[in-house]
Amino acid sequence: MAKEGRIFGFETRMIHAGQVPDPQEGSRAVPIHQTTSYVFFNAEHAAQLFDLKQYGHIYSRISNPTVAVLEERVASLEGATGALATSSGMAAQLTALLTLLENGDEIVSSNHLYGGTTTQFTYTLKRMGNTVHFVEPDDWDGWERHIGPKTRALYVETIGNPQGSIPDLERLAQLAGAHKIPLIVDNTLATPYLCRPIEHGATLITHSATKFLGGHGNSLGGILLDSGKFDFGRFPTIAEPSPQYHDLRFFDTFGHYGFLMKARAVTLRDVGAALSPMNAFLILQGIETLAVRMDRHVQNAQALAEYLSAHPLVEYVNYAGLKNNRYYERAQKYLPKGPGAVFSFGIRPPAGKTAREAGKEFIEALQIFSHLANIGDVRSLVIHPATTTHAQLSDEELKAAGVGPELIRLSVGLESTEDLIWDLDQAFHAVSG
Ligand SMILES: *Cc1c(COP(=O)(O)O)cnc(C)c1O
Repeated sequence: MAKEGRIFGFETRMIHAGQVPDPQEGSRAVPIHQTTSYVFFNAEHAAQLFDLKQYGHIYSRISNPTVAVLEERVASLEGATGALATSSGMAAQLTALLTLLENGDEIVSSNHLYGGTTTQFTYTLKRMGNTVHFVEPDDWDGWERHIGPKTRALYVETIGNPQGSIPDLERLAQLAGAHKIPLIVDNTLATPYLCRPIEHGATLITHSATKFLGGHGNSLGGILLDSGKFDFGRFPTIAEPSPQYHDLRFFDTFGHYGFLMKARAVTLRDVGAALSPMNAFLILQGIETLAVRMDRHVQNAQALAEYLSAHPLVEYVNYAGLKNNRYYERAQKYLPKGPGAVFSFGIRPPAGKTAREAGKEFIEALQIFSHLANIGDVRSLVIHPATTTHAQLSDEELKAAGVGPELIRLSVGLESTEDLIWDLDQAFHAVSG
């Protein structure tokens, strides 16, 4: 959005980008277009739309005016050429990969991932005939070693889960560029307010909008964005004729918009993981306050991380905002406004208790933090993986997965800082008896 050459700031764009007030009724807020389909002007118009010769809405599985405002808004915030909204973050990732991969193709991915992503890559992609090689994010020999002629993308998260690792995005972008493959970055934990991976060379961005973008724990959603800077001119699934669209060559026809056009007109059309207009509206509502919320999320997270690192019942704190954290310098470079508000720490059990018992007691004693499986809410959230998501693993298996029995993950919300510290404090007292 730029009027008379002016480039508007982030906060202005999070409120205005992608929307002009409804010309018919003058509605200032984004209207919810709760409709499945759109009346064609005439038969010629219908034919043009179906042939992708004219832009316009046909059916809400492929596009919808409320969803389109969300797509343009996040594209503006990320500095992307365009975006495609999906029903969830998992759907955004799968849409990206289904658009890039043929049977037998491979990707190389960081192994510091959201648990659902690990499962999607390990089992579902495998069943579809694709291989994902996992490497430690800083194992440069590992990344190189696994890139081969069938590799179609590198994949990483801006802030890895639950280790809180910060990958070197620029070095990964160089590696991907040298092999002429896109770098996909899941930017969920940072949001475009804290980090814009495209400015560091990323090609495609995915988001679980369910988290900080929506920000209120009420709507699932996902977004896939393209920087528009990667040359898909020789990339098989984008450059070659697409039999699913009467042999259309998406790169020849749409240039730097080719990837997103194929993702929408083929993948989203065939998979059906479209975002509902109501959820798009709620996520847009969240984005209107993104900068204000993220500053406050980071401020609370920093205060809690400092409190925890000084506590005798705490073994370690994995927050890159702490000066002694191994990712501190990198976070200053890539996340100068703060490394998010999701982090983990290790509880040190008092004499006579195991870490597993101490973790369970600690979580049960918390009063403000909600014990649940989500992050990125205005409410503070907590989970103890060893007694929930990873409860079936032995202590040894937990350690191998990087999730020790002592590890507790927090998603720090927007409540009064002193109240959150009070809550942690009284829970530690409950554990030490
Ligand atoms: C939650 C999450 C996802 C999956 O998103 P859903 O909206 O739950 O499908 C993917 N990546 C990260 C980093 C997440 O936190």
